[in-house]
Amino acid sequence: MSTPALPEIATSDAPLPGLRVTPQTRLRLLEFHRFEAAGQTFAYLVPSAAVFALDECALALVDLLGEQGTASIEALAAAVDGKYSVQQVWDTLGDLHRARVVTEALAPAPAPKILPLTPIPLQTLVVNVTNQCNLSCEYCYEYGEDKIVDTENGQQPKFMSEETAREAVEFALRESGSNPSAHITFFGGETLMNFPVLRKTVAYARQRAADVGKSVDFSLTTNATLLKPDVIDFLADERIGVTISIDGPQEIQDKFRVFSNGQGSYALVAPKVKALLERHRSRPIGARVTLTRQTLDVLKIYRHLHDEMGFWEVGFAPVTTAPQRGHAISDAGFDHLLGQFRTLAMDYLQAALEGRHHGFSNVRETLQELHQGHAKAYPCGAGLGLMGVSTDGQVSLCHRFAGSEAHKFGTLTEGVNRDTQRAFLESHHISHKTDCATCWARPICAGGCYHEAHTRYGTTQGPNLHYCEWIRGWTHTCLEIYGALAVQRPEFLRQFDGVDHEASDRH
Ligand code: SF4
Ligand code: SF4
Repeated sequence: MSTPALPEIATSDAPLPGLRVTPQTRLRLLEFHRFEAAGQTFAYLVPSAAVFALDECALALVDLLGEQGTASIEALAAAVDGKYSVQQVWDTLGDLHRARVVTEALAPAPAPKILPLTPIPLQTLVVNVTNQCNLSCEYCYEYGEDKIVDTENGQQPKFMSEETAREAVEFALRESGSNPSAHITFFGGETLMNFPVLRKTVAYARQRAADVGKSVDFSLTTNATLLKPDVIDFLADERIGVTISIDGPQEIQDKFRVFSNGQGSYALVAPKVKALLERHRSRPIGARVTLTRQTLDVLKIYRHLHDEMGFWEVGFAPVTTAPQRGHAISDAGFDHLLGQFRTLAMDYLQAALEGRHHGFSNVRETLQELHQGHAKAYPCGAGLGLMGVSTDGQVSLCHRFAGSEAHKFGTLTEGVNRDTQRAFLESHHISHKTDCATCWARPICAGGCYHEAHTRYGTTQGPNLHYCEWIRGWTHTCLEIYGALAVQRPEFLRQFDGVDHEASDRH
């Protein structure tokens, strides 16, 4: 079969045994999602999470099997006789079998290629250096009506102590196992409210990493209100990755991202962001936008943050909230959002084809996942290669559960309770999400964010069925972009070779 140049992505890395069949052997299709890109038809193969280009002969055979359910090889050959030779049919069926598009009619479904169930070394530790914030964003999951942990009246300290932060460093280095580097992300609350501890922790971690022959990498998320010149100098000099939580131009930012007196924060943060972007050149700076029912103008927000303010990348996430809240995005809102995402994604494709940078990070992240070709067993790295730490040193599923007893995995000093972790991974495996069993997007979605599920359904175990159409629509769009790039500019996809996504946070 003549396929376009898709060497790394076209087939499974575990070839199936060759077909030992006769012309009478009946075949059936395995699960795949069909899409078109660059004038070519592709199959996204659900069991192997691979992308496969279908030529005309393959397409004809797939269509026949789709219509008939099962068919013998000789019947398939007869149906396309005159157009394709018997040899072509056999060769094509061999390719389709190796790529897991077809199988023998009675063969059991192949086991999905999944991430291991056993714990893996920690890749990212998200350290909540404070649970306090100087803004009062109405939609915030940490302080609003959907909060999991009472950080206002609870038992935990408002700020992480220097000692606990050092323990977090030791924990991150220890739990990174054989990995040559550890990654620490500072988070909050507003992270920079505990800047003194943060600064000392970076110095301590660099020293300790050197002592044990490792490197350590840092990033943080901030609302930008406390970005003073000395803080910016520190972030730039220490090569700390920075993500700014910001929602867009003034009228959008000031809708929700307000101080406790209701005053908007744009006027304060805009010049600080400008100063940061001018000075901090050692790492690309990203913006992270929370989308709500009232703030869905993705194109306008992107243009402002990327084109006008100068962020390298802009990532968008729909607000996590219970459906009855005023800022929750409705079904119609998700449809609108998908249209906007699609428009911006096509801009990304155009830029990629022309060799220009485009900063829509949601596309880049999904392309990366598609390129990796893992059928994910879990939606993100939480509890696997990523964990969160609360201000008192409790280790949790991820930063959004930091301090929650119900989602505790251990403590910095006692380490991870492997039984708890194993039980979590077993009970949250995609194979238990029966609603997802027939969904073609499950290799990418795997049921979606645990925190979103907890907020919506009161349990981390449930799949996020309220946004399936959105996820499938978005994955389809990214597949189209992936296919177009694979045909028209395959070298673009090489940037994703070897990039590991297992410790990722999808928010
Ligand atoms: S949550 Fe929905 S979109 Fe995601 S895998 Fe499950 S069924 Fe598919
Ligand atoms: S996607 Fe959700 S569960 Fe996973 S790390 Fe992010 S917030 Fe936590």
